[in-house]
Parts: sequence; C-alpha cells; structure tokens
Amino acid sequence: MSESTKKIVTRFAPSPTGFMHVGGVRTALYAWAWAKKHKGTFILRIEDTDKVREVEGSLEHIIESLRWLGITWDEGPDIGGEHAPYLQSQRLDRYEKYARILLEKGFAYPDPFSEEEIEKFRNHAKEVKKAFLYRDYRPEEFDEWDGKKPLRFKVPVLKEYTWTDAVRGELSAGVEALDDFILIKSDGYPTYNFAHIIDDLEMGVTHIMRADEFIASTPKYLSLYDALEITPPVFVTLPPILGEEGTKKLGKRDGAKDILDYRRDGFLSDAIINFLALLGWNAGGEQEIFTPEEFIKNFDIARIHKSGAELHEEKLRWINKEHIKKQSEEAQLESVRPYMKAYGDVLLKKLLPHIIDRISIYGELVNIEQSDFRFFIDPPDIDIEQVVWKDDLPQTSKMYLEEVQRLLPTTDFSSIESIKQAIMPYAEEHGKGNVLWPLRYALSGQEKSVDPFTICYILGKDEVYNRITRVCKKIDP
Ligand code: GLU
Repeated sequence: MSESTKKIVTRFAPSPTGFMHVGGVRTALYAWAWAKKHKGTFILRIEDTDKVREVEGSLEHIIESLRWLGITWDEGPDIGGEHAPYLQSQRLDRYEKYARILLEKGFAYPDPFSEEEIEKFRNHAKEVKKAFLYRDYRPEEFDEWDGKKPLRFKVPVLKEYTWTDAVRGELSAGVEALDDFILIKSDGYPTYNFAHIIDDLEMGVTHIMRADEFIASTPKYLSLYDALEITPPVFVTLPPILGEEGTKKLGKRDGAKDILDYRRDGFLSDAIINFLALLGWNAGGEQEIFTPEEFIKNFDIARIHKSGAELHEEKLRWINKEHIKKQSEEAQLESVRPYMKAYGDVLLKKLLPHIIDRISIYGELVNIEQSDFRFFIDPPDIDIEQVVWKDDLPQTSKMYLEEVQRLLPTTDFSSIESIKQAIMPYAEEHGKGNVLWPLRYALSGQEKSVDPFTICYILGKDEVYNRITRVCKKIDP
C-alpha cells in the first residue's frame, strides 16, 4: 500500500498517573480528529508500566473524561479490538519478544552495574566536565539476560539524526543525543522509550501526536527504529499550552484543571472541544465556533501551530455561550432544568430566552436561580418607597397601577407585543416612567429586571392582576 492510501491509525496513550487536564485531552482530540477525518482508527492505549507513579482510579477517570467529551475510540481497554490487550502491563510478552530480537542482533545487553556504580560514572563525567552518557561506560562483556537485570539498548551506529516533524519541520541532533537507554527495567516492565515503539509498530500506528517534551528523545527512538529495521510513524509534535501570562507551560501543579471540573462547573462538552481545538490550531478563516463534526472536517496537521498556545478562560466562556445559543430549545431546557427545579416547564419555557441571555455557563444558574428569577415563582417583598417613580406620591403610583389593572381583562396576553400594545398608550399619556416603573417594580420587587411587558407575559394575566392588588393594598390598606 502506498503512503497516501494507507489507513490512518492514531492513538492516545496516557499514563494513568492522575487526572486528565487540558493538555492530555487536546492530544487525544487531535489524534481522534485526524483518524476520524480519514475514516481511520483511533486507539486508546494505557501506558501503565511505571508502577511507582500510578494513581488508582486514573483509568476510569480517563475513560469518563473522554466519554463525556464524545471522543470515542475504535479499540481500547474497555472494548477490546484486534490488537488487544490495550494495557501495557498486559503486553509484557510482546516487549520480551522484541527484546530477544535485539539481544540476538547484538543491540541489547543486561546492565551489570549497580545504582552506586552508575552514580560513580555520573560523578566521573562531572569531574571531567562531560555530559554523562552511559554508553561511555558500557562493559566489554555481557552475561546472559536473566530478566532480573535491567536490559539496555546498545546504540548500533553513532550518527547525527535528521528527521521531519509534521509540525516543527526538519529537526536534527548530534551523537550526544544517543545513549544506551533502558529497554526493560529490573521489575520486568518496559520503559516508555521501548514500549511505545513496539506498540505503535504492532498496532499499525501511522501518526504519533504528542507533547514537545519528547523531541529531545526522538534521536534515541530513531536509533531503536533503525535497530529493528522499522519505518517510524509520522511525528506530530503539539505546541505547549501556556498559562494566561503566556510564559509558563501549564501543568497540573500550575493550575491546570481536571477536565471533569469543567463539567461540574456547567460547561458544555462541545464548547470544551471547540476551545481545545483552537488551542494550537486554526482553520485559516474567520470561523471560531465549530461543532465537533465541523472541527473534524476542517482539521489539518499542516495548520497546527509551532509555538505555545495561551489558555484564556474568558475565551472558553465566550465559546461556551456561543454553543449555548446554538442549542435547541429542548437541549437548553434540559440543561437549565436541574438548576431550576422549582419553576416547572411551562414557566421555564417562557423564561428560557431571558435565562440564556444572562449566562455564559449553566453553572451560573446556581446564583441566578436564588435571586434574579425567583420573583417569577414567589411574589416579591415590596418596599413602598421604591414603588414610586421620581417625585410621585405612592397614591399617584397606585392610581396608575389600578388603571393598568382595569386594562387587563381586555388585554390579549398571547404575546409580549400584544400586552405592550394594550398598556403602552396609557403609559405614554401619563409619562412612561410614571406608569411603567411602578408596574415593573410591583410585579418583580427588583430594581433591575426584564421589561414589564415581558414580566406580564411570563406571569400570566391572573398573577399580574393579583400582584397589582397586593401592592395597591400595601400602599393604601
Ligand atoms: N504515556 C505518555 C504520557 O502520558 C504518552 C506519550 C505518547 O503519546 O507517546 O506522557
């Protein structure tokens, strides 16, 4: 098969060492989008070979996060697939097979030295002011590998490597980047350096999307690809994600949030996808709002940025609001409902446009429900001083309210506009503020709210009538 017709296979290969944050999710997103765009295969592989750093529950967390976002895999630990298993800890026989091939070729050997001895070499390198390279201290002769000693790679040729990264372009490194790195540790588990190469080979991975911290080790990987006579996949190095100040790489310790915290805060998963899509890529035009499907269609490795992408939560909130606006009424209702259980669907439907207008994320409804919209279900407390407009007397305001009340029986309440048409002429005759302020305040008890016609429409004729009666009685008992 030629390069261009070869099936695209990408993978997301997290280590289960804690929660997922934006960096990991963006890697998954780009790898997923590239496979989807080409009707290829996206694999979820768990790199659990560092038992010391492993954090319990990480695998479940990874799966839950990706599922929430709708990033779905074709093969993975929970669903299996033709390259199962997908946990590296269950693939030790594969690594051993390739370790034996390397041993046979003379490109691997058991490390005979203790930690203390290696420390001595390191100190020696310091004394002679040379960078420490294990291969400078490589023993002349080796024992058989008993599986208990670490197995090291034996660099086959010391040469300068030049390679092409799909994002960074041509890169190169001198021989000082090559060393006899560990393939299999003394605990029997492979290192990342070894395991990912074997798995990518066996799983037919065509593109490796990963963070820039792996560039420095790429020459080592290239010498291992050479030793195994395999053609490496395409390297796609993603730009770092920086904090708001644009300087520091965002890590778990520097405020990178658990991705599921965004769900807890009421963000939409499609907005998170859109936001992460733009953290390191752009479509080349003006468009900034993408559904996941539009992103997949537009995504191109050639448009991934080289330099770091700044994370701005303000931008995320803006994107989220745009996605809220694009939701169907039914979907909006579903999102609002859990926060506003007391309101009932009939009222909620009428309130919906005003609620949507007020928020950027649904989580904000926690506060809004308590104050701004509450008067729609609980008649408000009224302060008589506040009923009046400017210098009017409470009695004058009462008179206006009663006149509006008299208009109600013949008012068509089927739309905001029809209510406005019925009341506005009277208000214009006596001064808009004089009539409409007392009306709006009498109904809402709020200094600020939506206009009185909208409130009338949402409350309904009877409730408007009753609230006016209540306020008038309070003014003049
Ligand atoms: N297991 C590596 C990590 O979590 C993945 C690197 C890669 O994608 O190859 O950092």
